Amino acid sequence: MSALARKALSALTLSYDTDESKMPPHVLLAHQNYTTTLPDPSVLTPPEGSKVLLHSCCAPCSGAMIHEMSRMGLGVSVLFYNPNIHPYAEYLIRKEENVKFCEKLSIPFIDLDNGKDYDQKKWFALAKGMEGDAERGNRCTMCFDMRMMRTAAYAKENGFDVIATTNATSRWKDTEQVDGTAQAAADRFGLEYWRGAWKSDRLTLLKYQISAGERFYKQEYCGCSYSLRDSNLWREKEGIGKIKIGGEEAGLGSRWFTDAEVDAEEENQDVVDSFFADANAVADKVEEGNNRRDAWKVLKGDELKSLYEERKKGDHGGKGLNNW
Ligand code: SF4
Repeated sequence: MSALARKALSALTLSYDTDESKMPPHVLLAHQNYTTTLPDPSVLTPPEGSKVLLHSCCAPCSGAMIHEMSRMGLGVSVLFYNPNIHPYAEYLIRKEENVKFCEKLSIPFIDLDNGKDYDQKKWFALAKGMEGDAERGNRCTMCFDMRMMRTAAYAKENGFDVIATTNATSRWKDTEQVDGTAQAAADRFGLEYWRGAWKSDRLTLLKYQISAGERFYKQEYCGCSYSLRDSNLWREKEGIGKIKIGGEEAGLGSRWFTDAEVDAEEENQDVVDSFFADANAVADKVEEGNNRRDAWKVLKGDELKSLYEERKKGDHGGKGLNNW
């Protein structure tokens, strides 16, 4: 871990769980004793308007954003609309985790699916022809578009001024792609999109602290059936256990967030960059007519193996902060 990361961790007081029962629920996170003495190079300035609708993909990605918005005294509501998540069991786990977290904080949780309209058929129809794309490709643009357009439409109908998305917190996501689709949705409905430095080291650490404090479920893939397929093919090649949906054990690493420092160290930017280089190489081979499983196999096995080993918890000399 870098000196900067160590300094940031020591500056964040790990007192997340201590007095929760005594705190007013609507300001619980903002009252928690995080001392952010590390200067944040990029100040999070909300756009004009104070009624924020936060599109959330899952509880772990929402924690730090909700914390920051609450700290600023903004009225924030969380909207869950993620028909990309497959299978349905995983979708329910991620949603229920988010529901519980918002209930705990008395933050309004808007469930557009509401158990009746999962919208997955529509998602698959829109993904047609892009099944083989690597993550961050056109399928992901569609996936963000679909979710942000629905979010913006709801915001407009219900008097919100500003939209934001938790997809902007993950280094596994392309910032330009996430921001571009969200901005387009906001523009279409005459709203503001809140572009923020959501991937800063400070907020990444905060995200891990909250996730560990809440012992959130740690998902093992992005969300759609294609990301599940590709992650499992990669694991198969390397002899790593398949992704597990729910249950007490994960296919790799721990099932729950439990330790902010260890979790923060689990991955780094180099690993993310390597993953996408390989995923793009496979997508190219598939486009050339190769079988997907074989395409993964022809990649340099040793490099992939070491890459996965770095993903495991432990003292691997982390090269910086990261988050899923
Ligand atoms: S990989 Fe993730 S962002 Fe891309 S289409 Fe699948 S669920 Fe959506």
